[in-house]
Formats: sequence, structure tokens, C-alpha cells
Amino acid sequence: MIIKSIELKDFRNYESLNLQFNEKVNLILGNNAQGKTNLIEAISITSLGKSFRTSKDYEMIKFGKEFCRVKINALKDKEDIEVEIAIANNAKAIKIDGIKAKKTSELLKNIYVVIFSPEDLKIVKDEPEKRRRFIDRELCQIKPSYYVNLSSYKKALIQRNFMLKEKIVDRNLLSVWDDEIIKYGSAIIIQRDEFVSKINDISKKIHSDITGGNEILNITYESNIKKSKDLKEQQEIFRKELEKNIDNDIRNRTTGKGPHKDDLKLEIEKIDLRHYGSQGQQRTAALSLKLAQISLIKEETGEYPVLLLDDVMSELDKSRQKYIINSFENIQLFITTTDVAADVKKAFPEGKIFYVENGVVL
Ligand code: ATP
Ligand code: MG
Repeated sequence: MIIKSIELKDFRNYESLNLQFNEKVNLILGNNAQGKTNLIEAISITSLGKSFRTSKDYEMIKFGKEFCRVKINALKDKEDIEVEIAIANNAKAIKIDGIKAKKTSELLKNIYVVIFSPEDLKIVKDEPEKRRRFIDRELCQIKPSYYVNLSSYKKALIQRNFMLKEKIVDRNLLSVWDDEIIKYGSAIIIQRDEFVSKINDISKKIHSDITGGNEILNITYESNIKKSKDLKEQQEIFRKELEKNIDNDIRNRTTGKGPHKDDLKLEIEKIDLRHYGSQGQQRTAALSLKLAQISLIKEETGEYPVLLLDDVMSELDKSRQKYIINSFENIQLFITTTDVAADVKKAFPEGKIFYVENGVVL
């Protein structure tokens, strides 16, 4: 897919902005703190309705303003789409082709993006929460049903944990939330397992290409609940685990078992990269994992996502940079960098250049 243009109103440090993008490469250049990542963030929120930098929507509203707006025109499967998101202090309104969406989930499956920032290069050694977030963001883009399962699970988990904090825990009331947790949690486990097995196949190949066949990457989904491919069976397993763990949960005042504790395991030759990988291995595995997202989105949706590379080029060595540049000829790229050096521009001779200065694009 191609993002043709963007319109911003009071988004972060942009008061008002209108840009037409190049269908291949867009280089966003500028010094630190000028608004390069803000622009990437604005593009990316049209995919899931949420920022990759913050869970607090209001942070995206320009200081001193009441609301902000992002509008994008894109081309997908040869058809035009317009997505508009307006954020006020405690509310969010979404319009797709001018029609108001009733739920955020209606936004999904319109705009596909893969964002890659220096933070992502740390995903292998970071805490499990980061890797869960990777799975969640990706699966939400591909499968709106996952988005529904995940948000329902999170709501039920908050309620259950809330009850576990009561002085006297009412086990009957608790079991109402158990049912919800088991229903949505089991669906999440099955969807995640399927997803990880697909992402494993793709990233294994990418990783082997990048390392010249020297390393074989293996990624598995690590769940604290025994996995099953059958939903009914998965639910029974989950129920037993919750029942077995109830005394612990009451003692700890929180739910100890479930997909909110899961992780991704990344290995090379049985060596767990999370703990024992060299920095180079961890970064290459992170790159493979990220790039695999692109192929997976294409496989699952028939569309290539747009790739947003926020400041990562300068973090990678020349051979990795080349790998990225050569791999994605069919994909629209947005690349931010402070490095105005000639070689960035040389790598993308056909690219359009935007200079950002203090919330203004020159
Ligand atoms: P770097 O090269 O350091 O990554 P950048 O160009 O990517 O810099 P951004 O993160 O896009 O910088 O923009 C940061 C600027 O935006 C900061 O000056 C910050 O104060 C400003 N900013 C962030 N949020 C808001 C907001 N809600 N309202 C106004 N300005 C904001
Ligand atoms: Mg930045």
C-alpha cells in the first residue's frame, strides 16, 4: 500500500501540516527534537489508532490545544482510502472514508505499517512485556478478532485483579471473571502460537540471509499455560491452571497465570539469545524479526505495509543497511535521520526529501 498524503492539525509540535509523499522513498531529515519521530508517529496511529510511543493519547495533542487531528489518504489494492483520527482529552473519533467508526476495531485492516526504531533493536534483550507488545501490535493489524480478544481479556484481567485486592475475596464473583479470562485468554494463546510459528519460518530465512547462512534462528512462543491447538481443550487446560493457582493468586493479590505473562523465545543453536546472545546477535535477530513482519503482513492480507524506519539506519552497519535497502523495493519507505550525509541521499536517489525544523517541513 501507499500513503499518498498526510494532513495534521495540532499534532505534537505541528500546528498545521500538509504533505504529499513519494510512492517509494521519503527521507525525513532534520536535527534532534524537530519533529521527525512525531511525523512517523502520526502516520502510524492510523493503523491501530494508538501510538507506538505512548499509551496516553492526550500526549499527542499540541501543548495548550484541545484536540489534534491526523488525516491520511492512501492507496490500497488500487483503491483510495481516507482515514482520519481526532483526539480530544478523553475521547477519540475515527472516520474512514468520511464515515464515523463506531468502534476502534473498525479502523483495523485499513492501513498497514511496520515501524522500526532503535528501541526495537533491543527487543531481544528487553523485558518480556516488549516482546508481547510486538506480538500484540502485529496480530491486531492482521486479525481484528485478536484485537477484540485482547481488549476483552485485559478488561477481565483488570476486574479479576481488582477483586483479588479485596480484603475478603468472593470466590463466586471471581469465577465470573475466570470464565471471561479463560474464554478470551485461550483464543489469544492459540492465535499467538499460530502467529509465532509463521513469523519463525519467515525470520529464519531472513536471519540466514543476513548472516550468510552462519546462524539458524529459532523463535518459539513461550506460554505459562500448556498449549493446545484445540480451543475447547485449551480452555480446559487454562481453567485447571487457574483453579490450581487460586491460593497463590489470593496471596499475591494478582493473577499469576495467563497470556499476560507470556514471552517469545529466540534461540540460535539452542542458545537463548535473550540471556546469552552477543549484542550483535541480539540486534540481528531483532532485525530479522522486524523484517519478517513485513512479509507476514503481505502473506496474510495481500498488501505490503509501509515501512517506517525511525532513526535506525545510522544504528546499523553498512551491510545491514544494504540488506534493508535491497529487500524492499516494492515497499513505500519513510526514513528519518539526523544524518544529512550524502550517502543517505545517495542510497535513495529517487527519494523525496523533507527537511523538518521545529514542527515545520521546509
Ligand atoms: P530526534 O532526532 O532527537 O529523535 P525528532 O526530530 O525525532 O528528534 P520528535 O520526537 O519528533 O523529534 O519531536 C520532539 C519535539 O516535539 C520536542 O521538542 C518536544 O518538546 C515536542 N513535543 C512533543 N510532544 C509535544 C506536544 N504534545 N506538543 C508540542 N510539542 C511536543
Ligand atoms: Mg526521533
